[in-house]
Amino acid sequence: MNLSNSQYKKITPHHRFIYLNGDFNEQCQGNIPISTQAFNYGTAVFEGIRGYTNISNTTLNVFRLDEHINRLQQSASILKINDLPESYAIKELIIELLKLNQVERDCYIRPIAFKQALLPNSAFGVKLSGISTGFSINSLDMGVYTNDNGIACTISSWRRISDNAIPARAKINGGYVNSALAMETAVQAGYDDAIMLNNNGYVAESTTSNIFIVKSGRLITPPTTAHILEGITRDSVIELARELLGLEVYERDILPSELLTVEECFLTGTGVEITLVRQIDCHNLKTLESDSISIKIKEMYTKIVRGEITDFSRWLTPVK
Ligand code: PMP
Repeated sequence: MNLSNSQYKKITPHHRFIYLNGDFNEQCQGNIPISTQAFNYGTAVFEGIRGYTNISNTTLNVFRLDEHINRLQQSASILKINDLPESYAIKELIIELLKLNQVERDCYIRPIAFKQALLPNSAFGVKLSGISTGFSINSLDMGVYTNDNGIACTISSWRRISDNAIPARAKINGGYVNSALAMETAVQAGYDDAIMLNNNGYVAESTTSNIFIVKSGRLITPPTTAHILEGITRDSVIELARELLGLEVYERDILPSELLTVEECFLTGTGVEITLVRQIDCHNLKTLESDSISIKIKEMYTKIVRGEITDFSRWLTPVK
């Protein structure tokens, strides 16, 4: 579909268009058949990316777009999806979609690379080879959706998927059943989110975010070998904590009992941004006290995504 700038300015309501398999189309035309392999077996990989308006509300910037596209390509290679568009082309498609949708507010971008249909002479079955690739991108409005007054987490009895089951380092759609089970159990028990341990009994991450604790003025987060998704927000926090706040940051294993003695805790993720944790099971934390390190980090992160700290504008891709 080819529309001139002036044409789509007149007719586009919010997030009207999606990208699917080579074309931009109206949302309602973005249908995929129920025989799609990814729908049947969870064999897809995805990204969650945020766009933020700058402080003066004049520009929309996509946060760490290159890093998200890079992780999408890595996740895809684990599922043997080797024929995605090149990274620069995916970047262009994302920017084009945001322009087509005339996005002027904080938003969320969701590319999905998925196993589509059996190729000719490919036998029925659960597998990765002999299947065509589908690729979609959609966008939606998204503001802050976690509680600014902090959240309560429980340590889940659901274990985080192991690297030798479904690698957590890849954002594999099927792996999110693990997150959904843990989240559901936590919410039914009256909590906002779940903290999951890995099969070695160490803290891994939360359902859709990484975890940081604060002890004696230092930040501690599980290492990338703890069966976690290597979060881009986690990486951003490590860098800003060191560079802007001069904090010491340690990546090391955390035992669950340590969570019950920490001063502060927060979660990091594209969606949850920096979410302060005020309670873990029956233990109350000092995260929300006005001089807390977690609050400082949250403030810095907010300034960075809004383009207020020029040293970090390298993390922002303007949509223009
Ligand atoms: N862990 C999991 C399981 C997630 O789904 C997410 C969200 N993508 C994260 C961590 C945080 O990753 P990022 O900061 O890159 O969004």
